[in-house]
This record gives sequence, C-alpha cells and structure tokens, in this order.
Amino acid sequence: MSRPFLSVANLAVHFPTSDGLVRATDGLSYTLERGKTLGIVGESGSGKSVSSSAILGLHRGTNAQVSGEIWFDGTDLLSLSDEDMRRRRGKDVAMIFQDPLSALHPYYRVGDQISEAYLAHNQVSKRVARARTIEMLDRVGIPQPDRRVDDYPHQFSGGMRQRVMIAMALINDPILLIADEPTTALDVTVQAQILDLLQELQREFNTALIMITHDLGVIAEIADDVLVMYAGRAVEYGATRDLMTQPAMPYTWGLIQSIPDVTRSVDLPLRPIPGNPPSLLNQPPGCAFFARCEYAQFVPGDRCATTLPDLLPLSDGHLKRCHLDHDLASYAVVETGAI
Ligand code: SF4
Repeated sequence: MSRPFLSVANLAVHFPTSDGLVRATDGLSYTLERGKTLGIVGESGSGKSVSSSAILGLHRGTNAQVSGEIWFDGTDLLSLSDEDMRRRRGKDVAMIFQDPLSALHPYYRVGDQISEAYLAHNQVSKRVARARTIEMLDRVGIPQPDRRVDDYPHQFSGGMRQRVMIAMALINDPILLIADEPTTALDVTVQAQILDLLQELQREFNTALIMITHDLGVIAEIADDVLVMYAGRAVEYGATRDLMTQPAMPYTWGLIQSIPDVTRSVDLPLRPIPGNPPSLLNQPPGCAFFARCEYAQFVPGDRCATTLPDLLPLSDGHLKRCHLDHDLASYAVVETGAI
C-alpha cells in the first residue's frame, strides 16, 4: 500500500528547560493528500505551529527534542541531513507566516526578497529571477507588478504584504504549503480575499495545504479535514463536514460556540471557554481539558481527572479524545444546551 503524500506519525516536540521538559507536542498523527487542505485549530500554545515547524525542520540546530516520523512525498523528513532538508525547505515545502511585516526585511525591496527565494533553489540569472518575481506578483493580484517590484514592505498595505508573502512562498512551486494564521492580522474583507486567493492557487498548483488557525470559521471555509489540538495533543480529528456538524467532544463544542455569529440575537451572550490551558511543563495526569470542562460531571467516577483518554475512532475517519461515550455525550448536550 502506498503511503499518503504527507504522513505525520507519533510526532513529539519537547523542549528541555531549566524548569523541566516542555511537551509542546505529543503523539501527533495525521495524513494529507495533494490538492487537499488540513486545518489545524486550537488556542495559542496548543502545539499547532510547533508541530508544523517540525515539517520544515525549523527545530534543527535548537535544543528541541523531535521524535516520530514525518513522511513527505516518499521521504522521512526527520531522517534527512541538514543539507538535504535545506534543499527541500522553501522549494518543496514553504510557509506563510502570520505577520508579513516582521517576516519581510524592512530595508530590502520586496522584489529582491522574493527573487532571493527563487535564486536559492534555481540556477538562473538575476534577470530571469526578477521576471519570475514580477510574474508571481501579478499572479497574486499585486497591481502594476513591474513597478511595485522595486517598492519596500512599508509601501504595501497589510493585505498586499500578505500577497507578497504568498508570492514568495509559491515562487518555487512547492507541493506542500503551510500557512500559519495567514489572515489573523487582516481586516475581515481582506481576509476573505486572501483565503480565496490561497484556494485558487492551491487548485492551480495542486498543492497540499496545512492551514493553522485559532478560527474554526476559517477552517469551515476552506479545509477538507480538521485536526483540533489542545495542550500539545490532538483531541478531535476528522472530515470538516463531520466535525462541524457532529462535533464529538467538549473542547470542540466550546470552539464552535465561540465563533461570532452576526445573525444571533444581541441578547444572547457569546459563550467563551472559561479558564486557561494547563502548563505544558506540568500536564495533569488525566484529560488536559478537565479543569475547564463542564461535561466531566457526566463521566462516571474520576476518570477525567486521573486517566488520559486515548484518541479513538468514533466513526469512519472521525476520532476523538474524550471519556464521554456517544450516549453520555448526547445526554450532556441536551442537559447543558451545548452546540
Ligand atoms: Fe471533558 Fe472528561 Fe471529555 Fe476531558 S475526557 S473533555 S474532562 S468529559
């Protein structure tokens, strides 16, 4: 049987510190095929970015302890030499960051920064790289690209800067694109334009896309599958339609209830998830969500407090990490008015 295009298996990323071991990601597994989008959603510190950075080898040269397997297009990326990883990073796998202003160098013209990404992986002249840069700026919707290529980052609006970042990420035709909160810093209308552009380019280049976000609304818009992360672990995973229509565990219920809805009555308050995630230095012995979970009362005994639930299949391809079984979950939803 052939491997999926991207297969992450039992990935762990730990950081030794003077206070102890920070388990930023533990036992993470998922797959992704070409042309498809996986949304990874969770609060800050849930391990979304740390785990995705491991695919790009960004923890190499740091004190991070990375284990597990990352099979990408037939190669285990964790077993590559630093030199081979450098060759693939930016070419086969590229990343779009949340804040283009800090990702772009303020003193260099945007065209030079994009060309540099092309020259790093292609034996071509600067003239050819510049022509390719102008072509990409045009492709991502920058007006007058042959003139704007010589502008500096501060001369672009936030939305245009994010388009520049997308042009830079796509200039080498990567087959996997990781977008880390690419629309968080943008106005809602610009956000929609950038999501449309990403989907259009993904279709054109048949790129696999990992969309990292804290916003389930963005996921509902563009992802085929969703991985919900909490405190470094996957807590729910499945097809977007299944997860959005039949979310199966309390943290996902909380995320869905937190999506602002302009059609809801102004008298109805938003339902934020109370409390904060646990410290990754000192994870509780049971379910990491226990201290915030109003549904633990429906699980018999003290299992939520003492036993970490496994990530188990609920139906075909839909997995959840929660001790509530199906009947108890239905009962809890009716009792509490969740979702
Ligand atoms: Fe809540 Fe228990 Fe499920 Fe954790 S295992 S999410 S504490 S019900």
